[in-house]
Amino acid sequence: MAQYTPMMQQYLKIKADYKDAFLFFRLGDFYEMFFNDALSASKELEITLTSRDGGDKDRIPMCGVPYHSAENYIAQLIDKGFKVAICEQVEDPKAAKGVVKREVVQLITPGTVMEGSMLDEKENNYLASVTEFKDGTFTVSYNDLTTGENSIALISTGFDAVMSELFNRPVKEVVIASDFDDERQQLLEQQLGYTLSYCDQSDIQEGFSHLVEAVHQDKFIEGFGRLLHYIEHTQKRALDHLRPVQPIELKEYMSLDMYSKRNLELVETLRKQGKKGSLLSVLDHTITSMGARMLKKWLERPLLSKEEIKTRHDQVEGMIEQFFEREALREQLTSVYDLERLAGRVAFGNVNARDLIQLRNSLAKIPDILITLEQFDHPSLTKLYQEIDPLPSLRKLLDDSLADDPPITIKEGGMIRDGYNGQLDDYRDASKNGRKWIAELEGKERKETGIKSLKIGYNRVFGYYIEVTKANLSSLPEGRYERKQTLTNAERYITPELKEKETLILEAQEKSVELEYQLFVEVRERVKGFVQALQSLAEQISCIDVLQGFAESADKNDYHRPAFGHDRVIDVKQGRHPVVEQVMKGESFVPNDIYMDDTTDVLLITGPNMSGKSTYMRQLALTSIMAQMGSFVPCESAVLPVFDQIFTRIGAADDLVSGQSTFMVEMLEANHALSHATEQSMILLDEIGRGTSTYDGMALAQAIVEHIHEKVKAKTLFSTHYHELTSLADQLDRLKNIHVRAEEYEGNVVFLHQIQEGAADQSYGIHVAKLADLPDSLIDRATVLLNHLENANPEVAASSEEEQLSLFVEETKPSKQSKPSAVEKQLKDLNLMQMTPMDAMNELHRLQNQI
Ligand code: ADP
Repeated sequence: MAQYTPMMQQYLKIKADYKDAFLFFRLGDFYEMFFNDALSASKELEITLTSRDGGDKDRIPMCGVPYHSAENYIAQLIDKGFKVAICEQVEDPKAAKGVVKREVVQLITPGTVMEGSMLDEKENNYLASVTEFKDGTFTVSYNDLTTGENSIALISTGFDAVMSELFNRPVKEVVIASDFDDERQQLLEQQLGYTLSYCDQSDIQEGFSHLVEAVHQDKFIEGFGRLLHYIEHTQKRALDHLRPVQPIELKEYMSLDMYSKRNLELVETLRKQGKKGSLLSVLDHTITSMGARMLKKWLERPLLSKEEIKTRHDQVEGMIEQFFEREALREQLTSVYDLERLAGRVAFGNVNARDLIQLRNSLAKIPDILITLEQFDHPSLTKLYQEIDPLPSLRKLLDDSLADDPPITIKEGGMIRDGYNGQLDDYRDASKNGRKWIAELEGKERKETGIKSLKIGYNRVFGYYIEVTKANLSSLPEGRYERKQTLTNAERYITPELKEKETLILEAQEKSVELEYQLFVEVRERVKGFVQALQSLAEQISCIDVLQGFAESADKNDYHRPAFGHDRVIDVKQGRHPVVEQVMKGESFVPNDIYMDDTTDVLLITGPNMSGKSTYMRQLALTSIMAQMGSFVPCESAVLPVFDQIFTRIGAADDLVSGQSTFMVEMLEANHALSHATEQSMILLDEIGRGTSTYDGMALAQAIVEHIHEKVKAKTLFSTHYHELTSLADQLDRLKNIHVRAEEYEGNVVFLHQIQEGAADQSYGIHVAKLADLPDSLIDRATVLLNHLENANPEVAASSEEEQLSLFVEETKPSKQSKPSAVEKQLKDLNLMQMTPMDAMNELHRLQNQI
């Protein structure tokens, strides 16, 4: 290191502490990067790579960005999952002896960004942390720095459950211990796409113990401690707005594993096209961004308590009934700013006067919102508004103190309202009067000199001056005017009188700007005292926003309130798939009933491909999730049980990182369902066994159905193209056959998408192929083959019940067709062309005797 210049030595020393971040090293008006940082940053940011002499024989690679436009570059790096350490000059370069002192003042990471431009308004921005304990349990902790929210969950069912917990959550970065299992690190990084960060400290630091007061478990305290250490390490500033840690009781919510969240396309589609086409996109009729974030939380954690679900349904009902009030409420919500993130920024100390004006405007709307809630005149909503504190004293403070149209900067004045502070008013008067005096002086000078074009102006260098054009110079009396500046066409003068007033005006102005800054900081501090109250208000308003959104979607899309029965009955009349029906727009979606009484556990669904089997299955899952999150549901009426978990094995899972075969994934997902489901769960298995040979697949499918029927007893929808399985209904009393109706019309299949009782009779596969426009010759050939197979192998085409059940064993036994008997073989080998009729008779006689 000795070969480098002192500044490069300083750089290298600081960089050693921030190996996994881009070090933005402040040099005058630029942030510079060196060595490998420079090489990769120039690529990632598409900026020019240069080099500089650093004392070594080789020049050092370097690239840089101007400090005033750094935010944009930082945002790009953060968006790509990198971290950026901001290293500033922390002493005045003029005062410095030797190299200017520099320090990292903030480490910006994907999970800890605060700047609006790097955040998605409608999403939380979580930093998470996973801690493993000796007994194999885990904690998953979350922090959203922008809102101050903190929470933690304990997971005792293995790392798969940790992955399921994290999946789909807006987590950007996860903090783990440095000895965290390598393979699991990879899963977090690759499968979930998180930036990994390491922290080995996990005690609770001084000053943070109040955050964990409510959680008594040692594991929670340790799990959360890691997260706090990391936050403190990266932020290096006040963290007053962090809210007490909320324990997440996973058993209070419906649990959805990773596969189901993905397969059901709750917040994004399988093809990762973002929210469009997801359940979230259909349900999101929120107005505020905090409402949108709350909706996503509700969707991620559907409820189990009938009581709580009922409260939400009551509230939605109250809002549906009153169209005009709801319109008014929606209108009022449009003026409510993101109070939750604003509260976070207030606590962080980085709000300007405009932000506080937004807060003031938002608060001004709250009384109207309360009146509207009252006008709904519904008991569930009355209770809601009674709990809301509209914070009148905060509003008064902001009303009294802030001017109406303040600038963005807080160092130029113009923020504080007249009348708020006597001293400030005096300064303002002085400066205002001074200006008036100057205007009067201009008139007086014109009159005295007779020069009509004489004017008084101001610039930063000379202050106030009197300007006279060259043509008029002769009219100027001698003596009183002191020349200051000569222009091409004019001369500028000052007088002692003018200078005297100037001092007064400028002093007053300077003092008033200074005082305004002080007053503003004071106001900001006082607002800080309201942070907690603001956070509660934000939560209540978000809640109202989500509820009105539910009312809106119910009204727009014709959803109805679901009921929860006491037994395990599912009775949905004319149910629809909430997303497919939206996508179909012009064409009409065919609604279907679904009925499973207390004693039916399995519905076996047959029907041609593309007839709507998986749509039908998904619509039940989505309906249940919607119902349990508090929304109304797409149907005419619905009675549902409260499901504790939903498991799915549906559709193509072709996005597998792990490189496992489709069939392996299918089996893993099925196993996951079978081993975790209870009688209160729902299982959806779509075409299980498709990924392997027919008999293998059919055998597995049957075994799985039997296992669910006998052991698991969860409500199960099982679609299959193995028609043979339909005869299971004769053995398994809690299994029922249903099928999707399709009709053949002039050699083509017409899908009616209608569910009916009983088993389907044909597979229509070839008709579907025809629809897909495969060549006619190919279709004809397939038809011939099908006829051949059906005629040649009657056991498979239509088998008796006994054969059906032993079908899978059957395959290994020699059958007449597959292996000819000795007699058959001899018969076949006879060369009839070479035999006399007598020989043939003898031979036949001989063979006959062998039978
Ligand atoms: P399967 O699982 O039987 O192969 P899908 O459920 O994937 O069939 O449905 C195939 C297509 O049929 C869907 O993309 C959808 O457009 C349409 N479809 C499914 N169910 C219905 C319905 N109830 N009404 C109208 N169209 C439907």
